[in-house]
Amino acid sequence: MSRLIGAHTADPCPKCLVEEVRTGSPSFTQERDVISYRCDRCRHTWFRPVENDLDVYDTVRVDLPDTTLYGTVWQVEDDRVQVRDTNSGRVLWVELWRVILY
Ligand SMILES: [Zn+2]
Repeated sequence: MSRLIGAHTADPCPKCLVEEVRTGSPSFTQERDVISYRCDRCRHTWFRPVENDLDVYDTVRVDLPDTTLYGTVWQVEDDRVQVRDTNSGRVLWVELWRVILY
């Protein structure tokens, strides 16, 4: 389960289940592009792959530094995605690595 903390969605650590806001850090290598996360409580680290098969109209979550946004994919480019925020109707470009298929 995830819950809201301010404008962010907090997610549980896969190991100790403590919920925290974690926007992750991108790590791009020749082999694979991943986002790394680290739990401050138990020091567990884990990864998720960068989404590579996003389509227009997909429902996504975007972990921005100042908020967690939920919206619909409008356009997809190599390393960025245009998303329409479901709440505000605002359309904005975000970095691909921040986007999670929802
Ligand atoms: Zn943990």
